[in-house]
Amino acid sequence: MTFRATILTLYPEMFPGHLAFSLAGKALERGQWSLDTVQIRDFAEDRHRTVDDTPAGGGAGMVLKPDILAKAIDHVSREDNRPRLLMSPRGKPLTQERVRELAAGEGVVIVCGRFEGVDQRVIDARRLEEVSIGDYILSGGEPAALTLLDAVVRILPGVMGNALSGTHESFENGLLEHPQYTRPQVFEGHEIPAILTSGNHAAIEKWRLEEAKKLTAERRPDLLAGPPDSR
Ligand code: SAH
Repeated sequence: MTFRATILTLYPEMFPGHLAFSLAGKALERGQWSLDTVQIRDFAEDRHRTVDDTPAGGGAGMVLKPDILAKAIDHVSREDNRPRLLMSPRGKPLTQERVRELAAGEGVVIVCGRFEGVDQRVIDARRLEEVSIGDYILSGGEPAALTLLDAVVRILPGVMGNALSGTHESFENGLLEHPQYTRPQVFEGHEIPAILTSGNHAAIEKWRLEEAKKLTAERRPDLLAGPPDSR
């Protein structure tokens, strides 16, 4: 089964962007996942192909019109069971857990906002799942969609050559990853920790787990408290 991503955007030229490179790009060429874009503007009906209008109640900026966006969504989403996401700073913060769930499915439909955002009525009427990639404001949903897809595509079966390299990473076990080292043995007077070259795999595993816990306690104590839902 090929994972299918469909992106609704005013800037289809931004895709596949960085996903045309490296492992994601090779997987795209091999057909292990697919990407298509829909130009929201194609669903505008007036002469100027208007997609936005001023905010009701006043204020700066423009808001994406619900009728145009709904038509674009219906165009791709009829008889389609893929989750419909809206990239949005007001959304639930994206986690590795949600990335894993999405990667296990058949694909995603992603709406990229622009300007001040999207009319609330189309979010409600088309049951868009708002997803945030962090507590900061981007100028548009496109880089957020590319970020989400990057995280999903790299864990699709067969995309990363060495399947094992996905298992020990930050967040996979609720911890940040232990520090990594490689040759040379001595860098600017600093040696690789001796245990890592001892050949004692059990001791190495223990050291890595301890380092991961230490680092997580220092930098992300929130992760040690468990998933937000369990607090
Ligand atoms: N006025 C809005 C921000 C609009 S930013 C607010 O205060 O909530 C314009 C678009 O960029 C949004 O519609 C969204 O699609 C995208 N965007 C901005 N920041 C984002 C983030 N942190 N995560 C995901 N999408 C984001």
